Amino acid sequence: MRFQDLHEAFRQQQLTQRLAHSIRHLLNGQTVRFMEVCGGHTAAVLRFGIQALLPDSIQLLSGPGCPVCVTPQVVVRQSLEVADRDDSLLATFGDMMRVPSTDGSLEDARARGASIRVIYSPLDVLDLARENPLKKVVLLAIGFETTAPATAKLLLEAERANVKNLFVLCAHKTMPEAMSWLLEQGQTALDGFICPGHVSTIIGAKPYDLLPREHGVGCAIAGFEPLDILLAIHRLLEQKMSQTPRVDICYSRSVTLKGNVKAQAILNTVLEPCSSIWRGLGLIPNSGLRLRERFSHFDAVRMLHLQTEGYRISDGFEADCRCSEILRGLVRPTECPLFGTRCTPESPVGTCMVSPEGTCQNYYVLGSVSAD
Ligand code: SF4
Repeated sequence: MRFQDLHEAFRQQQLTQRLAHSIRHLLNGQTVRFMEVCGGHTAAVLRFGIQALLPDSIQLLSGPGCPVCVTPQVVVRQSLEVADRDDSLLATFGDMMRVPSTDGSLEDARARGASIRVIYSPLDVLDLARENPLKKVVLLAIGFETTAPATAKLLLEAERANVKNLFVLCAHKTMPEAMSWLLEQGQTALDGFICPGHVSTIIGAKPYDLLPREHGVGCAIAGFEPLDILLAIHRLLEQKMSQTPRVDICYSRSVTLKGNVKAQAILNTVLEPCSSIWRGLGLIPNSGLRLRERFSHFDAVRMLHLQTEGYRISDGFEADCRCSEILRGLVRPTECPLFGTRCTPESPVGTCMVSPEGTCQNYYVLGSVSAD
C-alpha cells in the first residue's frame, strides 16, 4: 500500500462517523476525561476536529508530551554557558532556539555572537566535531525515548571513531514515569491515557503496565490519523465501562508489546534512568536518562564543569503564564490571559507556545481549524 493510500485508509469519513456513533452509544451519558499525552496527538485532535465528532461529555486534555516544553531552565542556562565560551560550540534542534529563559533565549545568544549550530539529527554532531577540532562540540540532547536512541548511537559512533571533542548535555526524559507521577499528584483526574505513538514504537506497550496496575487508569496507544485516535477513545471507554483498565495497542502497524528491541539495546548500553526536572512540573523520580559511568567522559556537565547550583525548579516562568497547569491537563491555553495577546508563536512567553508540539502553539495555529 502506498503511503498516501495508508493515510486515506485511516481517514475514511464513513468509518470515522460509525466509530464516533459507537463511542456515543458506549458512553451512555457518562462524563469522562482522557489525556492525549503527546503533542502530535493534540495537533491531530485539533486538525481533524476530533472533539467536534464527540459528545461534550468526553473531555480531551493535553499532557506533558512536548520535549521542548518540559526542558528545564537549568538546561537552557547550561546551554547558554556552553554557547558563550570561546572554546565551545553548541549543537541543538531548531525548536530549542526560542525557548525563553531568565537569561534570554539561545536565539538571543546567537544574535550576540555565541557559537550555536542548528542540527537535524544527533549524528550531524559527529561531522561538526570533526570539522571543528579545536572546539568542544556539545549536543543539547532533548526528547523522549524516541530520540534518545539516536543520542546513544552518536556516542557509540564517537567512541568507535575516537572523537575526543564531542560532548552531550543530556536532558532526555521518559514518558510512563511522568504519566504515573501526574496521577500520584492527585490534581489531574483522568479516566484514561491516549499514549504516545512514536515513543511506544520504541518502548512497546509493556512500560505502561504500571498505570492500570498501580492507578487503575487504562491506556490506549494511538497513531495520528482520525481513526487511530477514535479507536483509542473507543477502547478506553470499553475499559472504563467494563472496569478492566489495561494497555491496548491501537497502533499495531507501528507498535508491538516489546517495542524496538534493537533501539532499546543501544539506548540501554549508553544511558540509564535517573530523576529529572521537568519544566513546569518539578523533579520526577526515574523520569530522565543520564550517561552511564562508562560514557561519563562525554558528559558536558562533568567535563566542561557547567553550573548545576543556584537554580529553582520554578525558574523560567513569567507571572500569568499557565504552562505549568497546561502540562498537567488542568487548564486549556485559552484560559491563559496571555494567549494570543502577549504570547504568540512569533513571540512566545511560555514554552508551550514555542514548538509545533506545544499545546499552546497547537491551539493558536490549529484551534480555528477545528472550529471551522
Ligand atoms: Fe504560557 Fe503562553 Fe501558553 Fe500562556 S499562552 S500558558 S504564557 S505558553
